[in-house]
Amino acid sequence: MQWNALMESMPRDELQRLQLDRLQATVAHAYARVPLYRRRFEELGVHPDDIRDLTDVVRLPFTVKQDLRDTYPFGMFAVPRSELARIHASSGTKGKATVVGYTRGDLEVWAEVVARSIACAGARPGDILHNAYGYGLFTGGLGLHAGAERLGVTVVPASGGFTRRQVALLQDFGANGLCCTPSYALNIAETMADMGVDRSALQLRYGIFGAEPWTEAMRRRIEEQFGMDALNIYGLSEVMGPGVAMECPEEKAGLHVWEDHFLVEVVDPETGSPLPDGAVGELVFTSLTKQAFPVIRYRTGDLAAMLSEPCRCGRTHRRMSRVKGRVDDMLIIRGVNVFPQEVELELMQFETLAPHYQLTVVRDGPLDHLEVHVEWTAGVPVNDAFAAELSQTIAERLRERLQVRPRAVHIHPAGTLPRSEGKAVRVVDERALGSV
Ligand SMILES: [Zn+2]
Repeated sequence: MQWNALMESMPRDELQRLQLDRLQATVAHAYARVPLYRRRFEELGVHPDDIRDLTDVVRLPFTVKQDLRDTYPFGMFAVPRSELARIHASSGTKGKATVVGYTRGDLEVWAEVVARSIACAGARPGDILHNAYGYGLFTGGLGLHAGAERLGVTVVPASGGFTRRQVALLQDFGANGLCCTPSYALNIAETMADMGVDRSALQLRYGIFGAEPWTEAMRRRIEEQFGMDALNIYGLSEVMGPGVAMECPEEKAGLHVWEDHFLVEVVDPETGSPLPDGAVGELVFTSLTKQAFPVIRYRTGDLAAMLSEPCRCGRTHRRMSRVKGRVDDMLIIRGVNVFPQEVELELMQFETLAPHYQLTVVRDGPLDHLEVHVEWTAGVPVNDAFAAELSQTIAERLRERLQVRPRAVHIHPAGTLPRSEGKAVRVVDERALGSV
């Protein structure tokens, strides 16, 4: 179901005219109200009046996360603080927290794009949606919540944690949809198994998963465990929050970017040069309607490709591929680039392995080594010879895929690796710990 068919199926030439009008207005607004943008524009010798065509966006300066830290807390807001209806912030695990704000109108737009996204996943007014994204400063919980209310579904604000209670609520209330991180969905599935709750006891038809990169192999595991469509949602607080883009079940092949509100580019992460459709690079977003916190060419650090083929669902908004990884999650091991998702793809080939894993990078003398930690699926009969053989097989396959042979592949007993209650920790880089 299209929540806003007029917008979601708008002919592309009309959509692009709308984008250009909105881009010009956003650029003028940001230039007039945010000193950092005015300074950057002046440094590049570019003025809002220079934007005469959508392709002129490449003349504008990039914005990066560090800009938000440097202007902490309110330096990039384009409206007086008293006009803010809400503030969200990142956890600041890699430095100072980054703060974003919304006017009442911005919150309306956000609810609109999330309502579209939930409907796109297969929700219908009257459904029950179990929202296990964390509520609070993180945009996941409240973002999905407002969109669900806008759509007219009954929302269960479960937030994260207390997983056994979540399973009981899913069963007792008969939720039709589940939203959370994909790693938390796996935690819920495992808890169901522990509690003896079969998927047939649930009424889930669709899951809306995002906030961390995951793979097609992980999608198949989740769909099998819940008996539902598992779909990708995309967003980040700097651009808006969840609901910037959403995958449709008709094709499950990329996420429609809501292009009437967001202008998307893909650039080479090293040089910043624009890349053609189909090429994987860094996603860059310019907001087209936000008032409190307009972003100009924000570099997300997320790696994906734009796909321009039309979609069977009838939506005209272009699709982005699933996020293949994050620029800052990329491990460089002996000069080779390694993404955790590539390891995940290989591990998920084995039915005897559970979908829980962690990578450790250690420095031993002059060399860096990758170690892989994964665990057995519960109930698999294990003996030492079988374990040794499987470890060898995985190490060899990873060598072929990554061009780096892991020093060790440890297969742990079922249920022993840390479980996600939000974003999963996939990499422990002991090189960084050692150098402090
Ligand atoms: Zn579609």
